[in-house]
Amino acid sequence: MQNLMDQIVGAITRSGLVEVEVSARHIHLSERDMQILFGGGASLTPKRDLSQPGQYLSEERVNLIGTKGRKEHVAILGPVRSSTQVELSKSDCVELGVTAPLRESGDVKGSGSIIVEGPCGTINLTEGVIIAQNHVHVPPETAQMLELKDKQRVCVEIMSERPIIFKNVLIRVHKNFTFRMHIDFDEANAAAVNGFTLGKIIK
Ligand SMILES: [Zn+2]
Repeated sequence: MQNLMDQIVGAITRSGLVEVEVSARHIHLSERDMQILFGGGASLTPKRDLSQPGQYLSEERVNLIGTKGRKEHVAILGPVRSSTQVELSKSDCVELGVTAPLRESGDVKGSGSIIVEGPCGTINLTEGVIIAQNHVHVPPETAQMLELKDKQRVCVEIMSERPIIFKNVLIRVHKNFTFRMHIDFDEANAAAVNGFTLGKIIK
């Protein structure tokens, strides 16, 4: 049975089809900001593993406060990082009254600002808010098979009831990656993504 599953997944992958995952708004915290929000000595408690190895949804939550509104119980994704980063959809930004650029994860210089509230403290984050560039995580073997290179841009057709072709989708290749496409809720809603969905990579 496992063998058959592997063969099916292999055939899907060879066709340039990738599973699409939808990322809800979330935050990554630096160690320092973690201590301010949750108190000295606090650490993240893993609740559920994410598809990318080592990444997890934590039990802890924070509130985000913009000039026009707030979002309660926002997910924190672990483990901690070198700098705090908030990933919002465009709709979130409008509702919160926050201006954020479309960026690749990790590229936060000069990005948007927001207030982050935890049970033990509050941070005035002067930069770190981004709208995440949609992207495909590709392990090296798959990249070789599909002739994809790190940082390459491709088009991906979301194979849904209301199909949309996203242009300029970023390819990210790393040995620790699981083959997945990540889009935000605005993009998922626009394409009527509902449950298990595949995207077709078009070069
Ligand atoms: Zn991702």
